Amino acid sequence: MAATPDSDVDPLYRDILRRNPGQEEFHQAVREVLDTLGPVLARRPEFAEAALVERIAEPERQLIFRVPWTDDAGRVHIARGFRVEFNSALGPYKGGLRFHPSVDLGTVKFLGFEQIFKNALTGMAIGGGKGGSDFDPKGRSDAEVMRFCQSFMTELYRHLGEHTDVPAGDIGVGGREIGYLFGQYRRITNRHEAGVLTGKGTGWGGSQARTEATGYGCVLFTKEMLRMRGRDLEGMRVAVSGSGNVAVYAAQKAQQLGATVVTVSDSGGYVVDDKGIDVDLLKQVKEVERGRVADYAERRGGEARHVPGGRVWEVPCDVALPCATQNELTADDARTLVANGVQAVAEGANMPTTPEGVAVFQEAGVAFGPGKAANAGGVATSALEMQQNASRDAWSFARTEERLTAVMRSIHDACHSTAERYGRPGDYVAGANIAGFERVAEAMLAQGV
Ligand code: GLU
Repeated sequence: MAATPDSDVDPLYRDILRRNPGQEEFHQAVREVLDTLGPVLARRPEFAEAALVERIAEPERQLIFRVPWTDDAGRVHIARGFRVEFNSALGPYKGGLRFHPSVDLGTVKFLGFEQIFKNALTGMAIGGGKGGSDFDPKGRSDAEVMRFCQSFMTELYRHLGEHTDVPAGDIGVGGREIGYLFGQYRRITNRHEAGVLTGKGTGWGGSQARTEATGYGCVLFTKEMLRMRGRDLEGMRVAVSGSGNVAVYAAQKAQQLGATVVTVSDSGGYVVDDKGIDVDLLKQVKEVERGRVADYAERRGGEARHVPGGRVWEVPCDVALPCATQNELTADDARTLVANGVQAVAEGANMPTTPEGVAVFQEAGVAFGPGKAANAGGVATSALEMQQNASRDAWSFARTEERLTAVMRSIHDACHSTAERYGRPGDYVAGANIAGFERVAEAMLAQGV
């Protein structure tokens, strides 16, 4: 990545640092985008005249609210809830909710900022937003999670609407939580407004393939990057980090396309399974039993071994798919992967590679797909869910997956051709940032200050 200081964007960046103290992840996300926008701002002076970068970097609205909830023992807890409605130039705010103890305003702003460009890249009518809470669902009973979700929605509902702001899941928020959140929205508003949340159950307004979409899309994006280099996933060794929703379905799609997924991980370590991860078993352990990858290795008997506390990127692979969380893949990890011959890296998580890690891949000529392009399949399928809700329709899995495949190809091609147009061939980071920025900037320009 071009970590080179750019005289056009540096004053802007300094101003953003000053206005958002202590929000390091947000600074990182902004810096990474600004570093690639120099050529567009030089070519399009009207963007600078309309202060578009400054306007995009400032959320339209930031909500912080108290979420009181009661545990099973009757003790009252206070969590903090967030929703950052970042940009609505292209459509209603759209983006997930993350429930994790690390969530603060800076995290939500970094995710919301990324979401603006990601959503623009899908070509669909969705603006950017993100939300969440520092509530930790780990070890909590269903009843506790339900009460928390109900309390969270009791405050948030007034800011939502199918044409206003449409949340979905993210880390710590899956089908169960979306169900509880939707139930409370429906109860309070007396509206079965299906399009107000995405990731719903398929029996009550959810889209087929939404659960699979982020992981599947990440692999489809990888396939496109490899195709440009005359390669194919068939026969490749793939390393996937994480073992949540994105990781599980990335592993499934990679194996459907003939690759062997040799590892998945969690915060306790990773498993190595040279014959290929048994995705059905992984799903059973993670989704049904809510267990750990160590439990997976145990259940798999002699086929897999668990490496406690290790770095998943030590496992030699041709393709690496970081699908866990932000900044999980460092420059050292990137050097290990490059030394082991990695050919392509696509981010299933949001900003999982540090800027130094990205630079290592790019200098080594590894095909690198940034999250805002490679993991856009999830939110794209959310937009398809909204489309089905608006027309009271429900598409088949095959039809939805076909649309997802077409969207991922179009995102890939947009990134690739934009990078070429701006003299950065093969640079998907620049391509994604510029293509996403151009679409949002054109809309904001047309809509006035
Ligand atoms: N949280 C997902 C993301 O990072 C999905 C958002 C959505 O479907 O609205 O893109």
